[in-house]
Amino acid sequence: MSDSKTSERIVLVGAGLVGSLLAVLLRRRGFEVDVYERRPDMRRGAQAAGRSINLIATSRGRAALERVGLREKVRTAPVWGRTMHAVDGELTYQPYGKNDSEMNDSVSRGELNRILLSEAEERGAKVHFEHRLVGGDPREQRLEFENGAGERVEVHADRVIGADGSASAVRERLAELGCVTSAYHDLGHAYKELEIPPAEGGGYRADERALHIWPRGKEMLMALPNHDGSFTVTLYLPNETDDDSWSFAKLTDKAAVQALFEELFPDAIALIPRLYDEFFENPTGRLGTVRCAPWHVEDRALLIGDSAHAIVPFFGQGMNCGFEDCLVFDDLIGEHSDGDPARPGATDWATVFARFSELRKPNGDAIADMSLENFVEMCASVGDPEFLLRKRVEHRLENELPGRYRTRYSMVTYSRIPYHLAYRAGKIQREILDELCAGIADESAVDLGVADRLIADRLEPFLQEHAISLDY
Ligand code: FAD
Repeated sequence: MSDSKTSERIVLVGAGLVGSLLAVLLRRRGFEVDVYERRPDMRRGAQAAGRSINLIATSRGRAALERVGLREKVRTAPVWGRTMHAVDGELTYQPYGKNDSEMNDSVSRGELNRILLSEAEERGAKVHFEHRLVGGDPREQRLEFENGAGERVEVHADRVIGADGSASAVRERLAELGCVTSAYHDLGHAYKELEIPPAEGGGYRADERALHIWPRGKEMLMALPNHDGSFTVTLYLPNETDDDSWSFAKLTDKAAVQALFEELFPDAIALIPRLYDEFFENPTGRLGTVRCAPWHVEDRALLIGDSAHAIVPFFGQGMNCGFEDCLVFDDLIGEHSDGDPARPGATDWATVFARFSELRKPNGDAIADMSLENFVEMCASVGDPEFLLRKRVEHRLENELPGRYRTRYSMVTYSRIPYHLAYRAGKIQREILDELCAGIADESAVDLGVADRLIADRLEPFLQEHAISLDY
């Protein structure tokens, strides 16, 4: 800690998506910011393999990029809906939003991270690459890193923020010290990334306006377009199974991978020319949920992004939620500072940290639960006729009762309604749909008068109580 300092020094651990964005926001407020990142500078070498190559950015992520003026800098591949591939090759398309104005942005993780890192440095953050947190006491704002030369480096800070991802060393250290409780729930499924390259002569090999899904119960394949004409394909499978169903443990040679694809995803084989090589070259990633509480220690240390709430990726919200954490944190600093926030003593950190935990923890829990529910939906239900009917009924309600009904998916994806309220509204909507869909085979059979009454009686009181507007 410097003696005659004019601004507070914040140390961030982790220069991933959330750490880099937060560094930009904190520099905008004038803090001294040091970021310690275990990996080498990604801008100087190949991107580390094994993490999702592309990501969906939605309302919350876009709002964060807008606040720091970077939204236009990030190239996107827009995605309007999902296309389901049946085993016999039949395709069914479901739009995501109520109309074409609602879509998701597929962005490159590497490019986004590089843009955020460069912006953080341009604004004056110091990024220390190849510094892995290995010890210290975040409670006492003292951290120990091991650098690329294998040396131990001790660092002191006014505030410590852990943005070091799902296996956060800051969180683990705080848990060892008894300051937070932390639990990891493994999903039992893992993922492997593959690639559909651009078509010869340019363009895409499949409809680029959609996320492609091959739902097969416990097994699922997904393909998300990139702006360069390729798709990143993700195979989700159980780690192990006791019966004769598929699992990663059983895919030990090319013949087994071929048999899996021929049985479950035959129309994908021709799209992935390096299927067998990539399968054995690329790592298998684990999937799970981190639940941790609280997310702070007094006015000293804080957890943000995946380090506080890693979730399974089936709602495409991990980064979006982490980016919204940053927005809320930035707002709280603004609300609880007296003049220049960076001036020592100007910011009421105890309140900022406590309010952050209090506001964000219910949202982290809700999006964790909704992501697990979406796992079931994407694996199994998206091919189910009853499920497809409910989706079409919802689509009709959104369009014929404007401003009065929006799907839970849309509240999560196209608004900034707090996740925990979207979750609760979704439960009310599920009951309404149960009644509206009983005994009908087609969305045109829905009685809009009944829908109107059910929404007025059950949904709108909840929306009014929480000041939620569906006009977005
Ligand atoms: P990370 O991105 O994990 O960054 C943490 C950083 O900390 C890393 O740079 C790491 O090297 C560094 N670090 C770790 N340990 C240490 C240490 N001891 N010392 C120093 N540095 C350390 N989210 C979406 O919003 N949309 C999507 O479509 C989406 N798709 C996904 C698909 C898959 C298959 C997966 C696995 C995730 C997906 N996510 C998605 C989630 C998203 O990837 C995460 O929520 C996001 O990366 C979290 O950002 P973060 O900065 O908190 O953590």
